Amino acid sequence: MIADEFDAFFLDLDGVVYVGDEATPGTPQVLRELRRQGKELRFLTNNPTSQDDIVRRLRSLSIEASNEEVLTSGTAAATLLNERGLTRVWVLGHDDLKMALQTRGVTSCCKEDCQAVVVGWDDALTLSDIREAASAIARGALFVATNEDPTYPGPEGPLAAVGTVVNALVAGSGQRPISAGKPHRLMFDLARESLNRGKRAIVIGDTPEVDILGAHRAGLPALLMGDGPSFPYRRDFRNAEARIKSLQDLFDDSLSVGEWAVPTYAWPEKVEAGVAAVVLEGETVLLMRRRDNGLWGIPSGHIEPTETVEEAVFREVMEETGIEVTISGLIGVYSDPRSQVITYPDGQVRHFITTCFLCRPSGGTLQQTGPETVDAGFFPLSSLPEPLMAMHPRWLADGLAELRQPFIR
Ligand SMILES: [Mg+2]
Repeated sequence: MIADEFDAFFLDLDGVVYVGDEATPGTPQVLRELRRQGKELRFLTNNPTSQDDIVRRLRSLSIEASNEEVLTSGTAAATLLNERGLTRVWVLGHDDLKMALQTRGVTSCCKEDCQAVVVGWDDALTLSDIREAASAIARGALFVATNEDPTYPGPEGPLAAVGTVVNALVAGSGQRPISAGKPHRLMFDLARESLNRGKRAIVIGDTPEVDILGAHRAGLPALLMGDGPSFPYRRDFRNAEARIKSLQDLFDDSLSVGEWAVPTYAWPEKVEAGVAAVVLEGETVLLMRRRDNGLWGIPSGHIEPTETVEEAVFREVMEETGIEVTISGLIGVYSDPRSQVITYPDGQVRHFITTCFLCRPSGGTLQQTGPETVDAGFFPLSSLPEPLMAMHPRWLADGLAELRQPFIR
């Protein structure tokens, strides 16, 4: 049974422990039994409120809990601000969030000289607040979202939630927020750090895109409670290791999670098409040093909307090096997430499907610097510059293999 496989259970609240004002069936008894067996419990909620507030609510449902066992997106936001030494913030949120921040030394203060804008829920929010907050972010205040949930369940269907305000500020400021809540990993990391080393923990949630994705980003296995959707590919981070109907199923002898392997790559929000070009001239290859990460690589980049792969190759090599090329062959198509998932310096993660071509120079003039390039040149194949982008030695080797068939990796 699943209860025997783990020492700690990280529970989502709304939809798992309670729905509206009622505990889910059997939950108070199940949690009491887990405690009796010495299991640790943590309660994780995207509700940007205080720990006191959640403990009060749980006790009203006959569920015992202490402040230390509760992680809200408000307390996680406070941790995030503490780590950066920020103490004066402008809170777009109600008093419970301000309290959660205040207990950790973060003061909700005036708009003008705030170090960060913290977005929670505030029913009295106006467009004027959004305009001023977007300006503060554009001026350099850290943009912190307690969560980015687009909606929450209402009696007659989904209702707009914190994510809608966050999106308004993204549009108004041109910046992306740092997010404290699920599906980002901070709350899960904090929950795990609160356990003794070596304890086996599992996450239980009812929303694949929030609870299950967040658990897997943090390297934790997860159970989906209820009838949430599953996703077509098994490696998708939003797919749980097992499903349960209620917490009572933790004691079902026929259910188990088994071994779960932590993925070696980050979760990409998008799959994108790219091209790369191995441009050979005699015994030399064209390489450029990227401005964004300082690494050497073969010219490569996105395919733009309406562009053909051939046009993309020509444009990318030209933009990055000033060299015109002609395609002489297809080297291969590369999609393995272990090498093709890229995390950018701003935290965005992309999974590239890259088509790699063998090319020869046909004109142009080498330009060693440009908007994306800090250096460029033709290098002897026997002595390539360091450091090289992770996947590029593979592409180079494949390009020189002189096989008739393209590689599909
Ligand atoms: Mg939930």
